[in-house]
Amino acid sequence: MKEYVVPPPPRTVLGVNNSEKTFPVRRIYCVGRNYADHIREMGNDERDPPFFFQKPTDAILPSGRDFPYPPLSEDVHHEIELVVAIGKGGSNIEQSHALDHVYGYGVGIDMTRRDLQAKSKEMRRPWEIGKAFDHAAPCSILSAASDIGHPHEARIWLGVNGDIKQDGDLAQQIWAVPETIWHLSQSVELMPGDLIMTGTPAGVGPVQRGDSIKGGIEGIGEIEIHVI
Ligand code: MN
Repeated sequence: MKEYVVPPPPRTVLGVNNSEKTFPVRRIYCVGRNYADHIREMGNDERDPPFFFQKPTDAILPSGRDFPYPPLSEDVHHEIELVVAIGKGGSNIEQSHALDHVYGYGVGIDMTRRDLQAKSKEMRRPWEIGKAFDHAAPCSILSAASDIGHPHEARIWLGVNGDIKQDGDLAQQIWAVPETIWHLSQSVELMPGDLIMTGTPAGVGPVQRGDSIKGGIEGIGEIEIHVI
């Protein structure tokens, strides 16, 4: 086997509840808009079909870690989200079979440089600079669906320094997990290791250096990061 000319990047993995094994992360897909109240707070049309963007795999930041406030922005927002971990790949996955493709679930925060995202929208440029920066995807350890089932009704919340800012329910998702998998798998072939961040309820807002950000989804898990 040939040697690498530079050191190979480490593989990104997530821990798994009740397991010694880890989940290898392949791609991170994110749903743009999936809760009507958040769509309204951003001034968009809730009848639009879902759309997707990606974050780089190595943007994963494990729960408990420091989140370094990213450069170029003065308006970094939290978006608490259900994370779906794909265990079985496929294309054009029928909704009725979609949950068979799910390994498990986690709790993620879609960290967003809102000022740069807004500028991108205005200039009709990609969202990448606002969404795909270093450490932009804090994520909890995963819980296997074989342990917890497939929750579709559960409180999803996030607090900043103990003040609850986002407080919703997975049942408010416009596109439930099977529909999201169906949509996304028409566009790309899903593979084991893919994560889907499924959108955020209302209440997004800025974080500051020194903040402690804690969130969770009932029955799935919790996440906590510290902004430095
Ligand atoms: Mn989001």
